[in-house]
Amino acid sequence: MPTNHKRFELSILGCSGGPISSRTCAYLLKPANISYSEIILSIAEERGARKPLLAIDAGAGLTAISELVLEGDSKNPKDNFIISIYDDHQSQYEEFNFYQNTGNLEVSHPFACVGSKSSVSLAPLEASWKIINSITAYLITHPHLDHLSGLVINSPSFEDSKDVYGLPQTMNTIRSSLFNGHVWPDLISEGLINLHEISPYIDEHSMCDFYNVECFPVAHGDIQNGRFLSSAFLITDKLTQDSIIIFGDLESDYSSSKDYNRKIWELISPLVLKDKLNTIIIECSTIDKPPPLYGHMTPTSLIRELLALRKYCFDKKFLQKTISHSAESVVYIQSEFQPLKAMNVIVTHVKEVPAAVNPRTLIFRQLNDLNCKYALGINFTIALPGLSYIL
Ligand SMILES: [Zn+2]
Ligand SMILES: [Zn+2]
Repeated sequence: MPTNHKRFELSILGCSGGPISSRTCAYLLKPANISYSEIILSIAEERGARKPLLAIDAGAGLTAISELVLEGDSKNPKDNFIISIYDDHQSQYEEFNFYQNTGNLEVSHPFACVGSKSSVSLAPLEASWKIINSITAYLITHPHLDHLSGLVINSPSFEDSKDVYGLPQTMNTIRSSLFNGHVWPDLISEGLINLHEISPYIDEHSMCDFYNVECFPVAHGDIQNGRFLSSAFLITDKLTQDSIIIFGDLESDYSSSKDYNRKIWELISPLVLKDKLNTIIIECSTIDKPPPLYGHMTPTSLIRELLALRKYCFDKKFLQKTISHSAESVVYIQSEFQPLKAMNVIVTHVKEVPAAVNPRTLIFRQLNDLNCKYALGINFTIALPGLSYIL
């Protein structure tokens, strides 16, 4: 294994499904053995060089990073914003470790190394400004504002042009509806924002020498002329060929009556079998309660999708001998071969509710009950802002 970048580090800036602002979906991805302090310190010497830092969605930005730098290396759950806005601290769920299945996942507090108490000694906004300016590319799953607002509002801080990648539909909407000279200045014509379309199932884009990125469409509710498209990014480390897949908002194939997700499960099942993909970052917005939240996932629909992935793994492994069985079949439940055993599934986009109990607690419980019922053996983690997951 190469020593210069061994593992992915996914940092959560925000992962809320709204309606609160400034903590909605935004993630940073970098090699685990290069710290944020190393990344920002090298800016001055290597101006224009491609930093190994990708942003996936931009629902949070300078505000969130500044606050996370300020929180530093706190292990106090009350300092974690998403835990502190609920009242159930006194319960068994007080520890934020409750939400992290660390079976094959390391968790760290990545922003302590750039704060005023660190050797870098930067004020929070100074540090977050430098982090934002170290981002080489933005991968945008879909143009909803809770995944994009940081790219717009933070743009006056950009010291260099930003490359933005996504589906052609997503790029078109960003061009026509955001940076159009009306809602916000036309930074595309000014050359500050460079849009790059990724054709699904065809293009593989190389990014900052470390990663190859592919993009696949998924359904995310109805619009006038059909299904609204969000997407998933498959990100592969060029040296190790290890991949992770990160989804934007989506709904189940069972509710969209499309086969976008099935196509993805079929595509990644060989990677799962080869142990080249052991992490899925995916949304689960609400608990199972009627009426279902439109265009999103619940524990039951997420588990149904993961059962479909398990079935594809069986079909590939046993050369389609199991193809006549439904994904819920006892054939899979009772098998000793469990392809998703110890797979990390990191859950994002939980919708906040005006209640005392954090909805993450209830979603986590439902997911793990179904995980047991179907003998999937998945390690579920509920994402929290301010944490990095080393994958
Ligand atoms: Zn969203
Ligand atoms: Zn959305």
